[in-house]
Amino acid sequence: MTGKPRTLGLLGGGQLGRFIALAARDLGWKTAALDSSPSAPALQVVDTPLVGTVDDVSAARRLAALSDVVTLEWELIPVRILEAVAELRPLFPAPPVLAVIQDRLSQKRFLTKNGLPQTAYGEINDPKDIPCHPIIIKQRRHGYDGKGQARIDGPADRAKAAEILRQPCIWESPVAFQKEISVLFARTHDGETAVYPIAENLHRGGILHATRAPAEIPPGTARKAVELARAAAEALGHVGVMAVEMFLLPDGALLVNEIAPRVHNSGHYTLGACATSQFEQHVRAVCGLPLGPTDAKGPAVMVNLLGDLWAKGEPRWNTLDGVPGLTLHLYGKAEARAGRKMGHYTVAGPTAAEEWRRADERLSALRG
Ligand code: ATP
Ligand code: MG
Repeated sequence: MTGKPRTLGLLGGGQLGRFIALAARDLGWKTAALDSSPSAPALQVVDTPLVGTVDDVSAARRLAALSDVVTLEWELIPVRILEAVAELRPLFPAPPVLAVIQDRLSQKRFLTKNGLPQTAYGEINDPKDIPCHPIIIKQRRHGYDGKGQARIDGPADRAKAAEILRQPCIWESPVAFQKEISVLFARTHDGETAVYPIAENLHRGGILHATRAPAEIPPGTARKAVELARAAAEALGHVGVMAVEMFLLPDGALLVNEIAPRVHNSGHYTLGACATSQFEQHVRAVCGLPLGPTDAKGPAVMVNLLGDLWAKGEPRWNTLDGVPGLTLHLYGKAEARAGRKMGHYTVAGPTAAEEWRRADERLSALRG
């Protein structure tokens, strides 16, 4: 028997990959990651950084060859690359899961097929097809942080629509939600599952601004949300952590917005606030280790730090000194572009509810 450490390979080297790699290291695994940028957040912390673009099959094969298990932190890697990796090494989540999720239309059809509730939707590819009522159009592929989508109130918005419609799109009915929530769910090869306290999310300009957990929702709604996430995970055959974003309507109904087949920004609070972080849980699920407990040590809030905060120079970090229960995480990104996720802070413990209200005050103090 050999005690030689095994290696977890990561497709994608962003902050999600960085946290996954750090968690894998704590579990005694070696790590490797592939990203197009040599200074990508995960490449700074893994044992073996590899540089290559997402469509470079030989780079993906190199990553697979030096890994025992491969996973990803970004769901938009071309399926042919994922298949090339899966031929060489176990890859979780598996390529068919990603094939369903990568295209918003196939994801929506998957939800319909499995009886999971969602807003009205359809295909749209021509500005001439814009109806007289409001819709949201979204490019089918490669969207994130609200990019590649727009609200269209009617034919007067045709020019705005035409811009988005350069790529194949779907339309959705706008949802007048009461809250946005997400369910973070982990599933192993054997079908063992674990669920985290439900997160309540505030978006600004299509980008996640802040999360608090547990969400302030009735227990029956929380149970229903978990059932929906479980049904989605089972139907997909997902292995690893995933997040299901949902809209809670004023009448208490839940609609699935989208599925992220990976660790998720709304689950960052679990690092520090829960017995097992989402990153460790993901490593456990994909590496065949038993899942860890998901109990929260108390309420928590997470606030994203976007590049805008650096507009006047380095944020005034000293304004966070002595805030009870606060932990700051920075991702090691050299360039602070507007809207770019540069870091986040989490406050866990009895002051979380107050910190949820004080997020803007903290951000303006940081900005100086
Ligand atoms: P992510 O960064 O989560 O991957 P994304 O770019 O894939 O985001 P969505 O989750 O589809 O985008 O949309 C981003 C945000 O825009 C949602 O969290 C929600 O606040 C708003 N939004 C999207 N679709 C709708 C809708 N049909 N009705 C109302 N608001 C919506
Ligand atoms: Mg989303």
